[in-house]
Amino acid sequence: MAPPAPLPLSPPSPLHEALVSDAALRPTHLEVDLGALRHNLGAIRQHVGGARIMAVLKANAYGHGLVPVARLMEAEGVAAIGVAVLEEGLRLREAGVACPILVMGGILGSQIPLFIDQELMLTASSVDKLRAIEACAAAMGKRARVHLKVDTGMERIGVHWYSAGPLIEESLRLQHVDVDGIFSHFANSDAADLSHARLQLERYHEVLDLYRRHGAPCPTRHIANSGGILQLPDSHLDLVRPGIALYGVYPSPATRRSLDLRPALTWKSRVVYFKVVQAGNPVSYGSTWTPDRPVRLVTVPVGYGDGYPRRMSGRAELILRGRRFPVVGTICMDQVMVNLGWESAWNDDEAVLLGESEGQRITVEELAEWAGTISYEILTGINTRVPRVYVDRGSAGGR
Ligand SMILES: *Cc1c(COP(=O)(O)O)cnc(C)c1O
Repeated sequence: MAPPAPLPLSPPSPLHEALVSDAALRPTHLEVDLGALRHNLGAIRQHVGGARIMAVLKANAYGHGLVPVARLMEAEGVAAIGVAVLEEGLRLREAGVACPILVMGGILGSQIPLFIDQELMLTASSVDKLRAIEACAAAMGKRARVHLKVDTGMERIGVHWYSAGPLIEESLRLQHVDVDGIFSHFANSDAADLSHARLQLERYHEVLDLYRRHGAPCPTRHIANSGGILQLPDSHLDLVRPGIALYGVYPSPATRRSLDLRPALTWKSRVVYFKVVQAGNPVSYGSTWTPDRPVRLVTVPVGYGDGYPRRMSGRAELILRGRRFPVVGTICMDQVMVNLGWESAWNDDEAVLLGESEGQRITVEELAEWAGTISYEILTGINTRVPRVYVDRGSAGGR
């Protein structure tokens, strides 16, 4: 079977064409369903009412491909894109993505001119950083756009909620900086117990109250990640920052399934080898698995070098010919062996590592459980060696 027909992105990008031709060369590839992403964005939009959306596209859009996902989000009219590091913002600008982009992580002084030059929004997480941004903008004769970062209980970047006064006061005095937002981040919004998230929200409101006391207008307020969007309607405020939910995955098994989300990824490969292994002959590195009767094994060209975690050895399954079969022996860098028992499969048969095939489904949550990690790490860990192919199965209806 030929690889799926790619969706022509407009304008057709050299990157996209390169990816499609790579996919033709390599049987192991990811199908990204743009219709599912559009569906998830729509579901989130409807759920948050009037709040605007900042689509979070860090770490290669959670493995889905930074630039194509950004183009889709821009076309769908999101208010902004959020990324983690400067380089991600630069790549988007280079690709011609023109919408507002916030780099949400910490910044170094030496990076500030690039931010201003490329009109990327900075996160100002201390008075010193804010002053450095102001000085740099003044020297360049340009305006910088910042979002202030308040730490309400994550203890990562940002001024503490109990000492946010000076940052806000300084921000009201600046000449060359537009303060477009003030934000915070939840540590536990994906949990069943929301008491810490509620405490963070309370602290955030205490900080926002400083604007009222200074008689100053409050910039765009945002705190909700996917967990907040799904579980804490009070946290939606002016703008929400969905990451994992946009990709159709819930933040944790404990998070309430309050939205109809549709996973966008299918990870596929093909059988490249078939053999019979006699009883007593161990399979793969370390000889950790040995059949006790003759078995049929197939080899599939995917491994931990693609982000198929080695820690899943002895636990993972994949779908072949409409059935789930176990991956046996140690997962190699580039290949895995699959035990068919005495079933049959042929070279070139499609193998599905993640997603749906012929009525069977393997979820990212399952992979995360086999690997002893969270869905985020599975998605962001799928290596760039795996070509992404973009398809559009439509955004309407259920599944
Ligand atoms: C990653 C991130 C998000 C999105 O988080 P999800 O749990 O994937 O929705 C939102 N805000 C910030 C600051 C982040 O770093």
